[in-house]
Amino acid sequence: MKLILLGPPGAGKGTQAKMLTDEFSIPQISTGDILRAAVKDGTAMGLKAKEYMNAGGLVPDEVVVGIVRDRLQEADCVNGFILDGFPRTVAQADALQASLQGMGKELDRVISLDVDPEALVERLTGRRTCKECGRGYHVKFDPSRQSDVCDACGGALFQRDDDQEETIRKRLQVYADQTSPLISYYKEIGVLLELDGMQPIQIVQEKMLSLLQAS
Ligand code: ADP
Ligand code: ADP
Ligand code: ZN
Repeated sequence: MKLILLGPPGAGKGTQAKMLTDEFSIPQISTGDILRAAVKDGTAMGLKAKEYMNAGGLVPDEVVVGIVRDRLQEADCVNGFILDGFPRTVAQADALQASLQGMGKELDRVISLDVDPEALVERLTGRRTCKECGRGYHVKFDPSRQSDVCDACGGALFQRDDDQEETIRKRLQVYADQTSPLISYYKEIGVLLELDGMQPIQIVQEKMLSLLQAS
């Protein structure tokens, strides 16, 4: 299963990708996670990416395209993958098509999650993430059992630097301008599935699985 999860920041891509990883035994490839790891490690790429990320803008296409091209060559991608947060521009989508073609592969599905802007702001301001395993939580919609402690691994939960209201509004605008055109891009290719992301996490999960099984 070669899949893209498409949707604005806070739509639930990461949350649903983790579930699909377990269901299909294929890796989640999150460019946001890879970039944050590079920032944390202080690599040259991380230092460059940090400014764009903290400002709520996009990291340049050539950087993320290179990351994904390398990642798709790794052994765990032989049976498929779930791209989460990539592509975010038409140039990235074109580069992905070329990479896949070069590997003799094709996308199976792109699932677009649709969520109202005001709900996105509430989701992102309440998002918490585990420092150790990366699992996401929400203070209201998906709280951990013990406040600020990960249920899965006991790690500490933190709030991302870019999950502040002003940066969130900027990221939503960037999505509208640069990423939302990908909905019609993938519709034209004939791989798009659209899903209402306003429902509770568990319902979105069930509907996503039945959409994938039906298609
Ligand atoms: P994305 O990866 O698309 O940015 P996340 O999966 O990190 O989004 O979800 C953003 C926040 O919203 C997280 O705090 C998550 O727990 C919460 N969340 C995800 N899906 C839902 C949902 N269907 N309803 C309510 N909250 C959700
Ligand atoms: P969210 O879960 O809120 O959608 P991500 O974790 O996917 O956010 O991304 C965080 C930040 O990392 C983005 O705001 C952007 O600066 C950068 N980033 C992640 N993926 C990409 C990409 N495909 N192209 C450009 N920038 C990216
Ligand atoms: Zn954890």
